[in-house]
Amino acid sequence: MTKKTKEPTLDFTTDWAYAPAPEDTKHISLKKQYDLFINGEFVKPNSKKYFATYNPATEEKIADIAEANEKDVDNAVKAARKAFEKWSKIPAKERGKYIYRIARLMQERAREFAVIETMDGGKPIRESRDIDVPLAANHFFYYAGWADKLEYAFPNRTPKPLGVAGQIIPWNFPLLMAAWKIAPALATGNTVVLKPAETTSLTALKLAELIRDSGLPDGVVNIVTGAGKTGAAIVNHPDINKIAFTGSTDVGKMIQKAIAGTDKKLTLELGGKAANIIFEDAPLDQAVEGIVNGIFFNQGHVCCAGSRLFVQESVADIVIRKLKDRMETLIVGDPMDKNTDIGAINSKEQLLKINKYIKIGKDEGAEMYQPSCGIPSKGNFCKPTLFLNASQSHRVVQEEIFGPVLTVQTFRTIEEVIEKANNIPYGLSAGVWTDKGSKIFNLTAKLRAGVVWANTYNKFDPTSPFGGYKESGFGREGGLHGLMPYLKF
Ligand code: NAP
Ligand code: MG
Repeated sequence: MTKKTKEPTLDFTTDWAYAPAPEDTKHISLKKQYDLFINGEFVKPNSKKYFATYNPATEEKIADIAEANEKDVDNAVKAARKAFEKWSKIPAKERGKYIYRIARLMQERAREFAVIETMDGGKPIRESRDIDVPLAANHFFYYAGWADKLEYAFPNRTPKPLGVAGQIIPWNFPLLMAAWKIAPALATGNTVVLKPAETTSLTALKLAELIRDSGLPDGVVNIVTGAGKTGAAIVNHPDINKIAFTGSTDVGKMIQKAIAGTDKKLTLELGGKAANIIFEDAPLDQAVEGIVNGIFFNQGHVCCAGSRLFVQESVADIVIRKLKDRMETLIVGDPMDKNTDIGAINSKEQLLKINKYIKIGKDEGAEMYQPSCGIPSKGNFCKPTLFLNASQSHRVVQEEIFGPVLTVQTFRTIEEVIEKANNIPYGLSAGVWTDKGSKIFNLTAKLRAGVVWANTYNKFDPTSPFGGYKESGFGREGGLHGLMPYLKF
């Protein structure tokens, strides 16, 4: 049933010895044109329309992607509905086996997934290779384990699947977000219609090939590509039982309005503007690494990015000096080079948005700092940027920029920093750096954020629930909590 792949089997537990060299991209099997994955096969779109996907580092076209219209979405939902009748009834242990098989195939093809993710989205190959792809496989492994243990997860209750889940994901972690969505839905006996983001459909389509090769019954997972309209067709389809959306707060609000009055269940994972708080008793060198990782990981295209730095006044000068020194060492450039720290901005549109905010920050009077590094003349690139002396009312402090731009504020007391950290529409994540455990417990209780990291940042694990408060959305993904939104009792 499982097709043999040409790639070597990689040991998931050890690091790869090398990153793929740029010429390795020639050996990645990419088609010129991608169709929709409906009912276990690739089918042409009813619209007959295709749109191009580009490599944001080279601005070269990679492939054409099918644009699904309402009729295509309807076909996908029908396939998922039909598959649900069988999938929800097979023994849970069997469901688990299928999910394990997807996880194992993903490990085997890890290299191909990593290269395609980097080509299509612009993130450094080091990150796709060491973080995105292994974590995506790990999500399938983790939820495969839950498939036949739901009665233990929810004792004295009888968990039942909801039906067909419509899942819509953003462009910043394309494969990982697909895994976050598909794995728990399958483990709980639901079937899926998933739409990837317009600029980064390729790894979801590779996942469709993998799913077909895994022998998963036809129609259990359907992948429809397209723009916002395709997403809206999923949201508005009357035979969808659940919408799981990850993306911007604006679109999240539109979706919530669109399904008001229906009995569709909803989870929203939306934007963020996290505070990363450095106390004077923190291990400062470690904290500086955490600041850099917090904001420059994945070019800052991270919903939980530590995009607002708060440094205690007594150590502000030294932390800012160390941060500037560290920024001088960052390499911005070819995402396919394993030495690159900051890759390409995902799209022209996003680069324009980031540059608009850099101008706003300057106009607002914050002091801008960028290191002396060069950036490639072609492609979408942005230097890592600080805004020093930022104040709470600045737009660069209040609004999500979703790029490598960090605002810096100082504070004197714990009460002051808690108030400033929480005084924002978002509540997704936060970071605290201190030597004192008591301070960590005090802050984690008072910061209104779904995830609070202590003396580390941007650490992800399938066992931990992830999600927000306020305009960052509701519902949790990951861990035991991540099963709940796909079940009724
Ligand atoms: P977005 O513009 O909201 O798009 C997200 C997805 O929704 C895309 O697939 C998009 O399709 C689709 N879409 C657009 N309009 C739609 C509509 N009217 N109805 C249904 N679907 C629609 O967000 P993005 O720019 O891709 O992603 C960045 C945002 O995601 C940031 O705000 C970030 O913070 C957030 N995010 C949150 C989390 C979390 O876990 N909380 C994780 C990652 C990202 P197109 O691509 O074709 O526009
Ligand atoms: Mg692309």
